[in-house]
Amino acid sequence: MADDSPILDVTGRVPEPVLNVLRRLEQHGHRAHLVGGCVRDLLRGAPVHDFDIATDARPERVMALFDKTLATGLKHGTVSVKAGDCWVEVTTYRVDIGYSDHRRPDAIRFTDRLEEDLARRDFTINAMALDMRGRLTDPFGGRADLAHGLIRTVGDPAERFREDGLRILRALRFVAQLGFDLEPRTLAAMQALAAVLRHVALERVGQEWLRIAQSDWERISRLLADGPWLDLWPHPLPGWRSAFTHGRPCPAWQRMRCLWRDPDERAALALCAWSVGAGQAARDVRRAGQLLAWPRTTVRLATQVAQAACAMSGRSADDQESWTRWFWANGRRPVEMASCLLDAIAGQRSLPLWRRARRAALRQPLWSLRDLALRGDELPKEIQGPEIGRVLNQLAEEVLMGRLPNERDALLAKAQRHAAKKG
Ligand code: ATP
Ligand code: MG
Repeated sequence: MADDSPILDVTGRVPEPVLNVLRRLEQHGHRAHLVGGCVRDLLRGAPVHDFDIATDARPERVMALFDKTLATGLKHGTVSVKAGDCWVEVTTYRVDIGYSDHRRPDAIRFTDRLEEDLARRDFTINAMALDMRGRLTDPFGGRADLAHGLIRTVGDPAERFREDGLRILRALRFVAQLGFDLEPRTLAAMQALAAVLRHVALERVGQEWLRIAQSDWERISRLLADGPWLDLWPHPLPGWRSAFTHGRPCPAWQRMRCLWRDPDERAALALCAWSVGAGQAARDVRRAGQLLAWPRTTVRLATQVAQAACAMSGRSADDQESWTRWFWANGRRPVEMASCLLDAIAGQRSLPLWRRARRAALRQPLWSLRDLALRGDELPKEIQGPEIGRVLNQLAEEVLMGRLPNERDALLAKAQRHAAKKG
């Protein structure tokens, strides 16, 4: 329940424009709190990416109180309010009614009571509210669960998962993201009610999988290998089980995440780890990415990495020259990512051809024209227009085939001979 003493100094932790939104609502006689993920992350001392506000003011009142607003989710009581350079979602306290489709409430009702609004939220750690003086409202023991690292539903877990199957996958996502444990009754209900997840659209499922892929997903590999969830989705997801069975926390995956920090790269590598790691082909990686409606760039990168990984672990008697050409055609990033992936997989199963491919990759003299020791604008001035690209490609071919060192003088001399011949 609300305690009068502040537990957190919000100044400096919450941007001033967000505090101004809270302040203005209060000045006009309303209650207003930060709620949900931002409170959880403020208490954890983790970066907050978006601040959500809950208030007893009705949406039309919120729109009247602020200059710049957008009616983003009026049906659910949400108005976006411009706060400085960003938008903050301000949502009227509400109660959700009926979940006949096991995903979304049939209707909502506004309420004046913050506690009722917190009660509709999924997990105790997501069901706290913080006012602008840093005072916490925590009716379900979220702070204690946060301290103990526990994911626990608000109220009866079976009822909450039956209402909305997506919460099952959200629970797994929070375990992966935060490194928390599942409270035993919450886990038991997730297992018993796994089938409710079938009611959730694959795009929504895909968003949670994307967040899992970008986090320390091995934390849930045992749960995924032992639990009933993977079998709920179409091919190729059920096939991932064997990757998760192998995938107990492994330093190689950890290293891989340190090397590849961009969210796109992390997601692509995770997808490959699950799919290629389970012996699936590059087309399965593409199919899974499309099924889960992941961004096109992520699916493309994952497919390239999978193709590289499959080629590098599967080509047999290829010589250096054909590897060189193949690396040139595929580019450095997918090949390097695939190398990391295969290193990690090789800790778990035998990949006899992979080491040879890696040796070939280490000998690759050039990966793109950018690596050439001579730039287009350094070519003799007789070489102009489309000829520039042609000459650079010819020089690259010489370097790739070992007929010329990748050194500026040697490349320039060759280009000058070309220009003289032309003249
Ligand atoms: P993230 O850091 O990923 O944004 P989050 O907890 O803020 O985590 P959101 O999806 O932004 O997640 O949701 C905001 C809040 O809305 C949650 O903290 C939770 O209180 C509530 N919420 C979101 N999805 C559900 C759901 N399916 N069922 C019940 N409450 C939910
Ligand atoms: Mg959020």
